[in-house]
Amino acid sequence: MSAHQKLYEGKAKIIYSTDEPEVLLANFKDDATAFNAKKRGTIAGKGEINCKIAAHLFQMLEANGIPTHFIDCPAPNQMRVRAVRIVPLEVVVRNIAAGSLCQQTGLEVGTVLKPPLVEFYYKNDELGDPLLTRDRLLLMSLATPEQLEQLQTMALRINEILKEFFHKCGITLVDFKLEFGLDQQQHMLLADEISPDTCRLWNDSESDPDRRVMDKDRFRRDLGQVEDAYQQVLERVLATTGNVVGG
Ligand code: UDP
Repeated sequence: MSAHQKLYEGKAKIIYSTDEPEVLLANFKDDATAFNAKKRGTIAGKGEINCKIAAHLFQMLEANGIPTHFIDCPAPNQMRVRAVRIVPLEVVVRNIAAGSLCQQTGLEVGTVLKPPLVEFYYKNDELGDPLLTRDRLLLMSLATPEQLEQLQTMALRINEILKEFFHKCGITLVDFKLEFGLDQQQHMLLADEISPDTCRLWNDSESDPDRRVMDKDRFRRDLGQVEDAYQQVLERVLATTGNVVGG
C-alpha cells in the first residue's frame, strides 16, 4: 500500500496511510453533521480546533495512565495515530442527564447522575447507532466479557480525569462519547477524538441553558456562535495545563 493513501473518510475526519504500516494520519475536517448526518454544515476552523483540543486531552490522559492512539500533530489539523482495529462500539459516559437519555427516559435535563452512567451503542450508521444491552453486545460478539469490563473501567477512569480537568477550565463535563481500538499486540487504546463534537460542555459562568452550551449542541440546535464556543473551549484547555489527577 502506498503512503498517504486515503483509507477512510468519516463525518469529521479523513484517515490516510503513512510510510509506517503501524501509523495512520487523521485529517480533521471543518464539516459538521448531526442527527445521523441528516443535518450537515461547516464550522469554520473546527478541524484545527478539534485536533488541538483532542491532542491536548490525549496527552493529558496518557500522563494519567490511559493508553491512547495519539502520537503527534505534524500540522494544526493533522494527527498521527497508532493504527488500531476499532471496536464497533460508542462508549458514552454521562455525568448529567441530557440529549437522548432525557428523550428516552423522561429524566429532566440537568439531573445529576451519581454514579456516572456508562452506555454502549452499536457503531452502525445504517441501524442508527442503537443503544445496546450488555447481553446483546455479547450475543453479537462486539467485545468479549473481559474487554467489556476493561472498556467500562477505562471509560470511568477517563471520566474522572476529564471531569477534573474541565472543572479547572470552568466547564462542566455533562457527557461524552469514546471509541476504543485494539493495536497489533491486542492492547486496548483510546482512539478517535475527544472534542466539542463528541462532548457536552457547559460554561460554568453562564446559568442560561442555551448560553452555557459550548459544544456541538450549538450546531444541532441552531444556537449560533458555534465557532466562538469551540474556540473558547480550546483557549481554556490550553490555559489549563498540567497533570491534574496526580499520576
Ligand atoms: N455523541 C457523539 N457521537 C454520536 C452520538 C453521540 O459524539 O454518534 C456524543 C454527544 O455529543 C454527547 C454524548 O455522546 O456528548 C451523548 O449523546 P446522546 O446519546 O445524548 O445523543 P444525542 O443527543 O447527541 O443524539
